[in-house]
Amino acid sequence: MKRIFGKDTDGVLSNLRVEFVGRRGYMGVSEVDGHMIISADYLGTGNTIDIYLDFIHELVHVKQFMEGKELFDHNFSYVERPTEVEAYRFVVEEARRLGLGDKRICNYLKTEWMTDEEFKRLAKAVDVSCAKTPRKGSNRNLN
Ligand SMILES: [Zn+2]
Repeated sequence: MKRIFGKDTDGVLSNLRVEFVGRRGYMGVSEVDGHMIISADYLGTGNTIDIYLDFIHELVHVKQFMEGKELFDHNFSYVERPTEVEAYRFVVEEARRLGLGDKRICNYLKTEWMTDEEFKRLAKAVDVSCAKTPRKGSNRNLN
């Protein structure tokens, strides 16, 4: 947390609004006011490490939103959007800190709505070596 928000950590966390919704497989940040949206279903059924890494990913977006960055810049594809690459890079660093190997990280990175081509570009952008494409991921869905 402190690596994301620095000295503002306490202030940001005490003001961060988190909305739990019934929708399946969803975690994201509102482009209207930057609050976090988490699927209650995903929290209940998802893999704990995936959820933790998703949460970190979304916190990076919260910070980006606070900095006035465009989170949904459609001039870029999802895997090339600078805000996504930054969030994924941060998550990969955190995953490695937790001791996760590249295979597990590749598994995390691959989501069902990403094509194999996009997945490979993302893995390359965040410096993870994914020799073969993992099977389609869980029902994770990030923005
Ligand atoms: Zn994202």
